Amino acid sequence: MKPHTNGGQAMNPAVLIPTSTQETASCPYCGAKTSLELPGNYKPVFVFCDGCGTKFIAERLQEGFQVMQVENAPCFSNPDCRELEMGAGDEE
Ligand SMILES: [Zn+2]
Repeated sequence: MKPHTNGGQAMNPAVLIPTSTQETASCPYCGAKTSLELPGNYKPVFVFCDGCGTKFIAERLQEGFQVMQVENAPCFSNPDCRELEMGAGDEE
């Protein structure tokens, strides 16, 4: 082990969001206001609408966040798809 790499400060502070945040979004299906919690990173999350109960996706952006319908989300914005991609193999 090289001594100069220790200290636990390896993360880039510019991309760190310290905590999850509570947001309110309009459901992309029915427009109902739904509260959601975004994690402290840029991972997309599933949200269940308070109005119609439909699952949609919320994703943090550099400023604010966006919501989208699951069927319209690109793979990198879909938590399920991301998990498949990352679990399926080491390619890419
Ligand atoms: Zn809804």
